[in-house]
Amino acid sequence: MRQVYMDHTAGKPVDPNVIDAMKPYLDRFYGNPSSLHSFSDKTRKGIKTSQEKIAQLIGAEKSEEILFTSGATESNNWAIRSLATKNQDKGKHIITTSIEHMSVLNVCKYLTRHGFRTTFLPVNRQGLIDLETLKREFLKETTLASVMYANGEIGSIQPIREVSQIVHDNGAYLHVDATAAIGQLAIDVQDEDIDMLTISSNSMYGPQGIGGLYVKSGTPLKPLILGGGQQRGLRSGTENLPGIVGMGTAAELAKKETSAEKNRLSRLRDALINQILENIPYSFLNGHPKKRLPDNAAVRFSFVEGESILLNLNMAGIAASSGSACTAKTLEPSHVLRAIGLKHEEAHGSVLFTLGKQNTDEDVKYVLEKLPNMIRRLREMSPLTPKELIENV
Ligand code: PMP
Repeated sequence: MRQVYMDHTAGKPVDPNVIDAMKPYLDRFYGNPSSLHSFSDKTRKGIKTSQEKIAQLIGAEKSEEILFTSGATESNNWAIRSLATKNQDKGKHIITTSIEHMSVLNVCKYLTRHGFRTTFLPVNRQGLIDLETLKREFLKETTLASVMYANGEIGSIQPIREVSQIVHDNGAYLHVDATAAIGQLAIDVQDEDIDMLTISSNSMYGPQGIGGLYVKSGTPLKPLILGGGQQRGLRSGTENLPGIVGMGTAAELAKKETSAEKNRLSRLRDALINQILENIPYSFLNGHPKKRLPDNAAVRFSFVEGESILLNLNMAGIAASSGSACTAKTLEPSHVLRAIGLKHEEAHGSVLFTLGKQNTDEDVKYVLEKLPNMIRRLREMSPLTPKELIENV
């Protein structure tokens, strides 16, 4: 049976070139980068080169502005918690959006329990924040805004350049979670005037368990992890060398490939979305029709449960994900789908296909062959399908 993987937001394979670049750092170059002997020269160089490659990908001025973490969750925790507490004498108000990842939302909620105030900006039906509302929410005490570049669950891309202008006009710092966007969209931190940017390695076909935080020089930041003083005392712990080298190589490849891959994926995405909406009655798009990530086809079907669709897709060899349980361990509809105004039952009928490097036209065709019959069968069995519609669903 054909196997089609369309769950790239949840996990991507590591690029073979990345694996090749990492290998020597597992068995040949193992000197601790902090040691004072020649075994460490190579590993220190490996870290520096990786910083340079990542800096080039995101348009950072200096390679030292790239710090390594264990992944996007840590980067988000660090950026928000540290900037907010470091600046608390100036004010204790943060602005974020209601569709951020839980690693942003839960830090903001934590800070709220510790004397801060957070404004969670609403989004419209298409998942975009309103810039006039953003302007209105600033207070004298606002020190930080955290707005994601794009949302992996509904694909919507926020107007970051305009956001940064507003945030800086109000004297605050801007943190941007670019986990879902990095490697898919061209990001330029200087041009877009971003103070801190969360980056994930696996989003660029690098290894899991490594991520980065870009921190523009001069941005006040406290260490989150204390210890032996590595990474200029900002993030202690012996560096994850193979991971860092892998992430750097992934960034180098992303810089070369992003533009062509963006066009290819957008074409596959549009074919998938358009034909689903055309061929399956009562199907709808989640997120913005145009301002969306190239890999993201988030759709929903009336009268059926996303989870039943996923099980049926899985039986046909197709891996997708349920937009309705993004944190997987809960069956509650995701906060993102609720925030764009979907009713409980609409959110539950959502399915998320995310495309990647290996996907082809044939994969899209295969999904389009299998999906309509699956939905029809499930609707025929579903007590939610109105009797008079059975013939047409
Ligand atoms: N931010 C966003 C926008 C995400 O989609 C995710 C999940 N991929 C994360 C942060 C957290 O990533 P991780 O679980 O790799 O730390």
